[in-house]
Amino acid sequence: RTVYVNGDYLPEAEATVSIFDRGFLMADGVYEVTSVLGGKLIDFAGHAKRLERSLNELDMKKPACFDDLLEVHRELVRLNAIDEGLIYLQITRGSDGDRDFVFPDPDTTEPTVVLFTQSKPGLADSAQSRTGTKIISIEDIRWGRRDIKTVQLLYPSMGKMMAKKAGCDDAWLVEDGHVTEGTSNNAYIVKGGKIITRQLSNDILHGITRAAVLRFAREAQMEIEERSFTIEEAQAADEAFTTSASAFVMPVVEIDGVVLGDGTPGPVAKRLREIYLDESVKSAI
Ligand code: PMP
Repeated sequence: RTVYVNGDYLPEAEATVSIFDRGFLMADGVYEVTSVLGGKLIDFAGHAKRLERSLNELDMKKPACFDDLLEVHRELVRLNAIDEGLIYLQITRGSDGDRDFVFPDPDTTEPTVVLFTQSKPGLADSAQSRTGTKIISIEDIRWGRRDIKTVQLLYPSMGKMMAKKAGCDDAWLVEDGHVTEGTSNNAYIVKGGKIITRQLSNDILHGITRAAVLRFAREAQMEIEERSFTIEEAQAADEAFTTSASAFVMPVVEIDGVVLGDGTPGPVAKRLREIYLDESVKSAI
C-alpha cells in the first residue's frame, strides 16, 4: 500500500512519525473517514468542512497541504487502485520534540498529516446490511466535546469489544437515560413511519452521512423528528438503524436482547440505504 505522510507518497513500511508526536502521546489529533465507491469519493466536501471545524475548535493550525487534500485523496485512490473502500485521514498537532501538556508553538511546529486507504470490496452490498446488526447499550462516559472528531477512540473501541463479548455487533451509548449515538455512528429509530434521531449538539458527532440521509428523507417526504430517545423507546420502535461514512445506512434488528419487528432490516432503513447509495454515488467526485 502507498500511504501519504506530510507531503510524501511512500510505501507503508517506509512511512514514519516521531515518537513525540502529540497524536501518539496525547490523542491530540483529529481525523476523517471518507468512503470510496466506484473509485470516487463520497461527500468529500462535507468531510473537509467538518475537518476544518475540528481543527478550529482545537486551535490547531491547518497543515500546508490543507487545500490539496482532495488531490491527495484522489491520488491515493489511484495509486492503490481502490474501487470500494475507505480513506483515513489524520491530522495531529505534531511535536516540538518534547512532551508537555502546553501546546507547542504553532509558528515552529507543523501538524502531522497521514492518509491511507483501506480496500473494502463489497462495502456497498455488505452481508451485514442484509441481516442487520445487534446492539447492546452501555453508559456514555466519553468527554463532553463529541462534536469534535478527535482520535480519542479508546472508549468507543472498548464499547465494540463489550458488544462482541455479548455476541453482538455494536454498542449504543446512553447518557442521562437517553441514547447519544453509536460507538462509530449516529443512531435512529422509526415509529409509525417517523424517523427519530437525536438533535445536534456537543453531545454527538455531526455525522456527514446523517446530514445527507436526513436531506434525502425530507426530499422523499418522510417525517423526521430530531430529539433524544431512550433504549426502552428504541426497543418498542418498528425499526432502528445507524449511519456512518463507513457503513452508510445500517439496519439494527436487536437492542439489548429485544428483537425489533420480525428481526430483519426494516423497510425505512432499507429504502434509505438504497436512496443514500444511489444519490451519493451520483454526486461522488
Ligand atoms: N458518531 C461517531 C461517534 C462516529 O465515530 C461516527 C463516524 N466517524 C459517526 C457518528 C458518523 O459520522 P459520519 O457519518 O460522518 O461518518
